[in-house]
Amino acid sequence: MLTTGTFLGGVIWVGNKSMSAGRAGEFAAVGLTETLNRMGFETGRLKTGTPARVDKRSIDYSQLEPQPGDDEVRWFSFDPEVWVEREQIPCYLTRTTAETHRLIRENLHLSPVYGGWVDAKGPRYCPSIEDKIVRFADKESHQIFIEPEGRDIPDLYIQGFSTGLPEALQIHLLRSLPGLENCSMLRPAYAVEYDYLPATQCYPTLMTKKIDGLFCAGQINGTTGYEEAAGQGLVAGINAARLCRSQSPVIFTREQSYLGTLIDDLCTKDLREPYRMLTSRSEYRLLLRSDNADQRLTPIGREIGLIDDRRWEIFTRKQANIAAEKERLHETRVKEHDELGRQIAADTQQAIKGSITLADLLRRPGFHYVNLDRYGLSNPDLIQEEREGAEIDIKYSGYIQRQQNQIDQILRQANRPLPADLDYNQIETLSKESREKLSQVRPLTIGQAARTGGVNPADVNALLVYLEIRSRCAETDSRELAKPIPFKV
Ligand SMILES: Cc1cc2nc3c(=O)[nH]c(=O)nc-3n(C[C@H](O)[C@H](O)[C@H](O)COP(=O)(O)OP(=O)(O)OC[C@H]3O[C@@H](n4cnc5c(N)ncnc54)[C@H](O)[C@@H]3O)c2cc1C
Repeated sequence: MLTTGTFLGGVIWVGNKSMSAGRAGEFAAVGLTETLNRMGFETGRLKTGTPARVDKRSIDYSQLEPQPGDDEVRWFSFDPEVWVEREQIPCYLTRTTAETHRLIRENLHLSPVYGGWVDAKGPRYCPSIEDKIVRFADKESHQIFIEPEGRDIPDLYIQGFSTGLPEALQIHLLRSLPGLENCSMLRPAYAVEYDYLPATQCYPTLMTKKIDGLFCAGQINGTTGYEEAAGQGLVAGINAARLCRSQSPVIFTREQSYLGTLIDDLCTKDLREPYRMLTSRSEYRLLLRSDNADQRLTPIGREIGLIDDRRWEIFTRKQANIAAEKERLHETRVKEHDELGRQIAADTQQAIKGSITLADLLRRPGFHYVNLDRYGLSNPDLIQEEREGAEIDIKYSGYIQRQQNQIDQILRQANRPLPADLDYNQIETLSKESREKLSQVRPLTIGQAARTGGVNPADVNALLVYLEIRSRCAETDSRELAKPIPFKV
């Protein structure tokens, strides 16, 4: 498995000074790119960066705006045993000033990108501060978040302030921010350039197409970000283990998970800049919600042996409680002339005609499960996640159903497999670009082919017609073969 992060041929830049390194103070992986190239892999070069770290004891907090975390703590995991409530430390907000902008504009030529020493593509969604000043030249100020990096260390992460400008200038830039006038810089910001393997060279299991048993995950596949890397590590790890045991691969789909969306995008699209997972990348985002991630993925985890009996019991209990609660909400009615009905109508300023179910009430804009508490109509035995699960399913059921119908329609064609021996160059009805892209990506299904960069709907139609003709010809051939061979005696 290759998970080389920013270390593959890594070079870090601070102003016009560069050195071979994967991260500041760590050696780069040198020579591996050339080996991969010799084996026929295509590699490219990308760039990312990190802001300076500042000593928290050198900041004037009175000039900063506190940015507390959420009042209600949310968890990544659905397993209550790993939930640990701890005091939350706030972040703070400051802003760039006219002085920050002046310093950057006047010294732009000293940055590796604007100085012309680096031309690798950086992440569009995490631009350096000099990029922001150039790209959004009409903005007089940009927000900068001051984030503690740990409870027991003095390091503050200056979010939104990554830069490739020289170290000596960085302290002046930092001190141009309100509250940071006397700050001490613990570590300078830097940019890092590294090699990656466009992931169209991988199957959706993240195994490379060129070498059986070689998997790639994380930044090497052209992504940036912790969650992106962790998700791919999981998929590649599962599939590598299953390959060793001669088990079938596990492929996550777009309509099932962001993980599937991420990997499908990586394996089919020609991405030439660091990829970050955003909710807007999913056409199914009404269905892919954090509240139902367990519903979508825990059964798969159970099937492949990653969910033990304890976790499975927690999961099934939660799903059963949500289902029972939804049934209760659909069956319990509030009547127009009852005391409760009159009170709810008065509070919500919406009449109740005859009677309505609690589910109907929940569908009303502005009415939430928590409002049922006031009338003694909620279920006190449910945990917050179960209350929320029932509410979301009911409140958005119309939209959810509509999206589900769309998915079913697309899936009927999209999951149609593409034969592994298909020679796209022979399909003359496809555009030249499509022939090239499809030969390169080698999609496994019609859906994947449709999402391949450079393949348009007319090409997908042409492909479907070609497959239809091909399967009819194959049927005729097999009927011919099945006929008894005439012979003479
Ligand atoms: C400076 C910096 C700041 C970042 N800040 C953020 C952030 O705030 N939020 C965020 O979401 N993402 C951030 N990222 C991106 C995030 O860190 C990476 O996308 C993510 O860590 C990639 O995970 P990975 O497992 O692919 O690689 P890495 O986490 O980089 O791990 C690669 C590992 O492979 C090892 N390695 C490399 N080559 C070899 C070799 N040949 N032999 C043996 N071992 C090798 C390295 O030592 C390293 O331990 C940042 C990245 C950088 C460089």
